[in-house]
Amino acid sequence: MRQKKLLLYGLLFLATPTIAQQSYLKEGIDKCKEEELAGNGKLYAAFFQQQAAEYDALCLQAFNVARMRLDEALAQKSDKPLAIVSDIDETFLNTSYYAVLCGKKGAEFHQNTWEAWTAKAEATPLAGALEFYQYAHEKGVAIFYVTNRKENERVGTALNIKRYNFPYQGDDHLIFRTAEKSKESRREKIAQKYNIVLLLGDNLGDFDKDFDKQTTQERAEAVQKNRAAFGKKYIVLPNTSYGDWESAAYGSKYLSIKERNAIILERLKDKPVAN
Ligand SMILES: [Mg+2]
Repeated sequence: MRQKKLLLYGLLFLATPTIAQQSYLKEGIDKCKEEELAGNGKLYAAFFQQQAAEYDALCLQAFNVARMRLDEALAQKSDKPLAIVSDIDETFLNTSYYAVLCGKKGAEFHQNTWEAWTAKAEATPLAGALEFYQYAHEKGVAIFYVTNRKENERVGTALNIKRYNFPYQGDDHLIFRTAEKSKESRREKIAQKYNIVLLLGDNLGDFDKDFDKQTTQERAEAVQKNRAAFGKKYIVLPNTSYGDWESAAYGSKYLSIKERNAIILERLKDKPVAN
């Protein structure tokens, strides 16, 4: 009995961080505050996107599922022509180069630098994307690119799509952001003439109005509510770099990197917390 107790105390002693370890942990946290997670996170996310074979595997997984679902839809009768609605950035084109350009300069996203970059048409296809869109095109499916890029980015965007031989079914199939950020009215317009069988995107707003303008908690609930649609009608591509998940966490007003960093540190959990 006494031996067991000694063993237990011994194990507890070993598992308890020493004073040196504790100060190391504290130093680590202070360092996080100094180095501004919100800024550095963008570079780390780009690193994953450009280097991790797992990223390619996730994209391939998404497009494999998409093809399976499209085949199912093609096998069924439809009174309207079939269509797929797809976002562009981080859905089939990789724009992480822009994030790296910004990150290396310590700069943040800015509409002007973004538009200068998209004009160069230098985004590259995600793994498996080209094969999927070409397959859909060959099967006679209408493909609508619904993006929140702006109308003045049309030339560079169309050039980038065509550069890699993604199907381009006409200027009216490339739909830019209008007055509103929500894509709902643009989807509704397409749905008047087409049967939208599949939606592809990296941001929840690419799928349904259920996900528009919500808090982190509401977004999580909306995902649960729509859970049956993922991998069925909604095909989600990974994006750890940016998205509505970020603005949901930060609120609508503009915050400095320091302020965002403080929110990240406050929200991150270092142990499981019951919801
Ligand atoms: Mg996107």
